[in-house]
Amino acid sequence: MTKHRLATKAIHAGEPRPAIQGAVCVPIFQSSTYEDLGQGSYHDLRYMRLNNTPNHVALHAKLAALENTEDALVMASGMAAISAALLTVLQSGDHVLCQDCLYGGTHDFITKDLPALGIDHDFIDPNRPETWADLVRPTTRAFYVETITNPLMRVMDLAAVVDFSQAHGLVSMIDNTFATPIFFRPAEHGFDLSIHSGTKYLNGHSDIVAGAVLGSSELIERVTHKLNHLGGSLDAHACFLLHRGLKTLPLRMAHHHQSALEIARHLESHPAVARVFHPGLTSNPDHDRAAKLLDGYPGMISFELKGGLGAADDFLAKVELPFVAPSLGGVETLVTRPATTSHAGLSPAERQAAGISEALVRVSIGLEDTRDLIADFDQALA
Ligand code: PLP
Repeated sequence: MTKHRLATKAIHAGEPRPAIQGAVCVPIFQSSTYEDLGQGSYHDLRYMRLNNTPNHVALHAKLAALENTEDALVMASGMAAISAALLTVLQSGDHVLCQDCLYGGTHDFITKDLPALGIDHDFIDPNRPETWADLVRPTTRAFYVETITNPLMRVMDLAAVVDFSQAHGLVSMIDNTFATPIFFRPAEHGFDLSIHSGTKYLNGHSDIVAGAVLGSSELIERVTHKLNHLGGSLDAHACFLLHRGLKTLPLRMAHHHQSALEIARHLESHPAVARVFHPGLTSNPDHDRAAKLLDGYPGMISFELKGGLGAADDFLAKVELPFVAPSLGGVETLVTRPATTSHAGLSPAERQAAGISEALVRVSIGLEDTRDLIADFDQALA
């Protein structure tokens, strides 16, 4: 299967052959437990919490093929994936280095929950790799970053993260939710663990929550054992929907890429707009790096209006096609103010330090006709 290209893998990788009872779609195995076939080890018995039913097995193979990893593991949400992965590589007394601007839930988990377990952290300055070594302690075990940051769409020097991690014996971990395997495959760049919120682009239809961790068989086995105890497995019906969504991922990402880039350029030239954040814009400080590292850009755009918070609220009240809602990566366009949703858990001072203004608007461009979205945004900005 590795010889095939992404669009082919999305359809065929991981599909059981011969097909189960001839079904061209993997059926939903609505069975929590399975007959003991003398497997011996507890972890090999088939049981839904152990994430090893036929629905899970097919998904793991498809995801691993898409990202060119040895193995993959799906779970109940992106946060289940993030927490299970971090708790696998970190123990009490350990220390983790993190990118400074992370998804709000991850930021909260690292700054509030991990310290209670005796796990310490430091935020690195992504623009000054020469300062990172000063933060390394004898107890530092991992380096955690995001491919494209939420909500400011920064793309840091990811090659430097891998080199640094390898030089210091750290597990390199990356949240690849925004880029998806279509635009970035972390293992090909040397990352040890890739993490996804499957709720977003992987599923793509805003109808489930799911997560995934991908990496070497050895690391995924360790994450699996941790998850078996934490219990955040993915149920069979959600597996089915995630599996179905993955088959159209390459097509959907191509549309998200085209449409968001066109809308970002349009917004940048609009007189009411002060600043637009999108890695595909040549005005973006990370554009050259992003263009080299990524095979495309997701449907995510953030922007600030010249009229500040009042104008942002007006825009949210006036847009007609998008839903005003958190989350991202679905077929429908969503707009939100990160200060009140994804990054509400940060204090105003933390948000300011991360560059997230109260007036920042984030848009997840869906699969509607680009011309209709531009017309709607124009009337809302008028
Ligand atoms: N990672 C990123 C980049 C996200 O944007 C989110 C949610 O918005 C998550 C992880 C958490 O995912 P979930 O809501 O599936 O737990």
